[in-house]
Amino acid sequence: MRQYPLEKYRDIGIIAHIDAGKTTVSERILFYTGISHKIGEVHEGDTIMDWMEQERERGITITAAATTCYWTPTQINADLDADQRRKENEYRINIIDTPGHIDFTVEVQRSLRVLDGGVVVFDGVAGVEPQSETVWRQADKYKVPRICFVNKLDRMGADFEKTLRSIRERLHPKTAVLQLPIGLEEHFEGVIDLLRQQAFYFEGEHGEKIIAKEIPEEFKKTVAEKRHALIEMIAETDDSLLHRYLEGQEISAEDLKKTLRQASLKGELIPVLCGSALKNKGVQFLLDAVIDYLPSPLDLPPVKGTNPNNQKEEERSPKDDQPFSALAFKIAADPFVGSLTYFRVYSGTLNKGTYLLNANKNSQERIGRILRMHANHREDVDEVFAGDLGAFVGLKNTTTGDTLCDPNNPVILEKIVFPEPVISIRIEPKTKVDQEKMSMALHRLREEDPTFRVAGDLDTGETIISGMGELHLEVLVDRMKREFNVEANVGRPQVAYKETVVGTAEAEGKYIRQSGGRGQYGHVWLKVEPLERGKGFEFVNAIRGGVIPSEFIPAIEKGIKEAMDKGVLAGYPFVDIQVTAYDGSYHEVDSSEAAFKIAGSIAFQEAAKRAKTVLLEPMMKVQVITPPDFLGEVNGDLNARRGKIEALTERAGINVIDAKVPLSEMFGYATNIRSMTQGRGSFTMEFDHYEEVPNNIALQIAEGKK
Ligand code: GDP
Repeated sequence: MRQYPLEKYRDIGIIAHIDAGKTTVSERILFYTGISHKIGEVHEGDTIMDWMEQERERGITITAAATTCYWTPTQINADLDADQRRKENEYRINIIDTPGHIDFTVEVQRSLRVLDGGVVVFDGVAGVEPQSETVWRQADKYKVPRICFVNKLDRMGADFEKTLRSIRERLHPKTAVLQLPIGLEEHFEGVIDLLRQQAFYFEGEHGEKIIAKEIPEEFKKTVAEKRHALIEMIAETDDSLLHRYLEGQEISAEDLKKTLRQASLKGELIPVLCGSALKNKGVQFLLDAVIDYLPSPLDLPPVKGTNPNNQKEEERSPKDDQPFSALAFKIAADPFVGSLTYFRVYSGTLNKGTYLLNANKNSQERIGRILRMHANHREDVDEVFAGDLGAFVGLKNTTTGDTLCDPNNPVILEKIVFPEPVISIRIEPKTKVDQEKMSMALHRLREEDPTFRVAGDLDTGETIISGMGELHLEVLVDRMKREFNVEANVGRPQVAYKETVVGTAEAEGKYIRQSGGRGQYGHVWLKVEPLERGKGFEFVNAIRGGVIPSEFIPAIEKGIKEAMDKGVLAGYPFVDIQVTAYDGSYHEVDSSEAAFKIAGSIAFQEAAKRAKTVLLEPMMKVQVITPPDFLGEVNGDLNARRGKIEALTERAGINVIDAKVPLSEMFGYATNIRSMTQGRGSFTMEFDHYEEVPNNIALQIAEGKK
C-alpha cells in the first residue's frame, strides 16, 4: 500500500559549487526533518535536544546517493495539535546527491536525469562561481526547476544584493526574491518573509524554534518596495492574476504562492531564499520552499522510452498501475551488504522477491532486497512505487544508466548519453598480487562509472585508464589505492587522441597461404570514407552475388575493428569512419574466418593510409575569469596554448574569456592561472568536440615527442 500520495513527493537534488555549503545545508535538512518526524513522540524541548545529540554522535549519512526524509511545512501560529498536523501534512522528500565538480560529468548528468527539482546553494560572499554556472547550464538542458538559497550570510563580506545580481546576470534574469536578511555578517539575525510580511528569528541551540515578529521599523520601507516588485513579477506570469492586481485587488499570499509555483515549474521565475546553514538560520523555510515551488512527479510529463522488441517509442506515467519501470543511476559498493544499485521508479509498483528485466542487457535480475536510505538508518522495504528512490541489493548485471522493468512490458528509458573520455594514464601494478587486485578494482570502478574506460596495452602489458579530466582520473586512482589497496605506478596524463580519414579510398586485402596441408584464403576489397563528427563507425556489407559467403562477413568486420583500434598513424583508435566491403573472392577449401579477419585488417590499413589519415584532438570549452589587470597576460597565454578566443565579456568589474583550447595544452592550467592572476583568476573546462590536429603538431605526436 502506498503511504504517501504522489503529490506529496519531492525528488530533489542539492546543487552547489564546492564550499558553498552543500554538506552543511544537507546536514541541517536531515536534522530538521528528523525532528519534524519525531515531534509527535517527543514533547519536551530537552528530549528533542537529547535526540539530536544522539543523532549527531551516530553521525548522519549524507553520502548516500539518495536519502529519504519527511517534512511538514512550517505553520506559524497553527492551532492544530502538532502530531495531527504532522500526519496530515507530511511530505516525503528524496534527496539525490549531486557532485559539484564538472569532471564528474557522469555523476552530474545521472543525478540531474533522475531528480525533479534542484536547490542551488550559493556562498553569499562569493556569489555565482564558475562551476555553479556550468552545472546550472546542465540543469537547463534537463529542464530541472530550481530554487536558490543564498547561504553564509553570517560570513564576513556577505553581500545579499551582490549575490542576487550575480545570479541575475549569469544564471537567470528573473529571480523571485522571497526573503530579505535581517542584518549581515555578524549582525545577521533572521529573515523577513515578503509574502507573509513577518520577521523570523531562529532560537534554541539548533535554531529549531522559529519566532515570528513584526518587521523591524527600519526595514519597513524596503520591504514594502521589494514586496511590491515581487508581487508584480509573480502577477505578470498569470493573466487573470495580473488583471486582479491591476484593478487594485488584494491578492492573498496563497494565490501568489500558487502562481509562483507554476512559474517556477516552468522555469520562468526562480524563487530565492536566504540564510546561514552553519548558524541554523533559514533552512526550515528552504524546506517549505521545496514543497511550495518544486515539482512532484505528477507535475512532470511522462517519461519516454523505446520498446527494445520493436524500437517503437513508448511512454510511462507515474502511476502505480502502469507497468513497472525504473532507472539505475548509481552503483555503489557498500561495506555491509555488497553492491547497491540506486534506482528511481518512473512507473508502476514492485514487490520484492520478483524478477525484473534489465532492458539494456536483455537479462533478468532477481530483486531480493530493497532498501530505503535515511539520514541515520536503512530500512528494508517490501514494495516500491512510482516516484520512489532506493537501492536494490546484490544485482548481478546492471550498470549505471540501465532500465529495470516489468519483463512483460520491456522498455529502455531515455538513455543517458555519456561523452567519450578525453584523457588517459598508464598504470602499472607493483607486484603480481597488485595485478590481481587491480583488475578487480578497475572492474568495480568501471561498473560505477561509465565515463571511465579501461584498456590493456598488449604491447607493453600495461593498463591504460581513461576519463573525463585530470581530477576524475586522480580520484579514481586514489580510490583504487585506498579502497582496494592496490599499489601501482601511475604515468603522466595523456590526451586521448583519435584517428580518422579525410578522404575516400579503396584497397585490397589478401591473405593467402598455400604451402602444404590446409591453406589459408581470405580476399576482400574495402572502401573507407569519412563520417560526420561523433558518428563513430559504420560497416556496410555490399558484397553481392556471393563472391564472399555471408558467414565470413562478420570476420571481415572484426578484422577491420581490430585494425581500427590500433590506428595507422600514431596508434590511436579510429572514429567517424564508414567502411564498405564490396568485392573479393574465396576458396572452397582454404577459406576460413581467421583468413578473412586478417584480410579485412590488411585492407583497412591500406585503405586508411590512402584516404589520408589525420589525428583528432579533444577541444575543450574553457571559461576563464580574471580581474582586468591580468586580462592581457591571460589572453596572451591562451593564444600561446593554441586557444581560440570566442568571447570577451565584462561582468561587474571582472573579465570573462570564453575560448576553445586543445586539451593537450591545458595540463596544469589550474596552477598557472593562479600564479598569473595572483590567485584571483579561476577557470572551468569541459569537453566540447574533437578537431583535426595541425600538421606540425601531429608530426610531433606521431614521433612520440608530445
Ligand atoms: P560543500 O563543499 O558545498 O559541501 O560545503 P560545506 O558544507 O562543507 O561548507 C564549506 C565550509 O563552509 C565549511 O567550513 C562550513 O562550515 C562553512 N559553511 C557552510 N555553511 C556556512 C554558513 O552558513 N556560514 C558560514 N560562516 N560558514 C558556512
